[in-house]
Amino acid sequence: MLKQKIYKLLIGTNNKGKLREIKSLLPKNIKILSTSEFNLKSPVENGKSFKENSIIKSKYFSKKTGLLCLADDSGLEIDLLDKKPGIYSARWGGNHGDFNKAIKRVYRELNNKNKNWKHKKIKARFVCALSISYFDKKIACVQSKIDGYISNEPRGKNGFGYDPIFIPRGKKKTFGEIKPARKYKIDHRYFAFKKLRKFL
Ligand code: IMP
Repeated sequence: MLKQKIYKLLIGTNNKGKLREIKSLLPKNIKILSTSEFNLKSPVENGKSFKENSIIKSKYFSKKTGLLCLADDSGLEIDLLDKKPGIYSARWGGNHGDFNKAIKRVYRELNNKNKNWKHKKIKARFVCALSISYFDKKIACVQSKIDGYISNEPRGKNGFGYDPIFIPRGKKKTFGEIKPARKYKIDHRYFAFKKLRKFL
């Protein structure tokens, strides 16, 4: 637990969608800085879990800037694909983060597994691990998820990444169709943040 109140926090991500969402979740009295202001590339994510990768990022960006850093590692697990893309979710988008390409790969792999998949409920979940580090010291690390299904086709232009193909459980619309302000209050990141709040 942090002994001092946080006034300034670096968000350790180069993903604009995540940054927007994280900013909306943090208390307004905290000055938020982003990695783009420091022109920092992301570290190699060679952890074996969302939590490990999140800690790799928060330590790395904190050491590079000398600031307290909050980092997110997240992704989509699809049960029929043995939980892929999972921690490789960003990598399925290739070097240029092309999520049309990543989504096509999801559909291709689902077809390879079961030609009939569109007639089944394809269980999936978004997972989010958040960590806070100061230099090499991990201060907090939490994880949460949201369960749902893969839609038969991409729908909606809101959000980022795999949002157009994920339908949260109990809803009809994909995250790509749900308004961002609404998504931010029900998703994996929101619930991970709730767990993290006691550290802020
Ligand atoms: P990383 O945590 O930077 O390795 O990237 C996680 C990847 O998972 C992102 O590039 C997105 O493709 C995907 N992802 C994580 N959270 C979300 C979300 O809320 N909506 C859509 N895609 C997400």
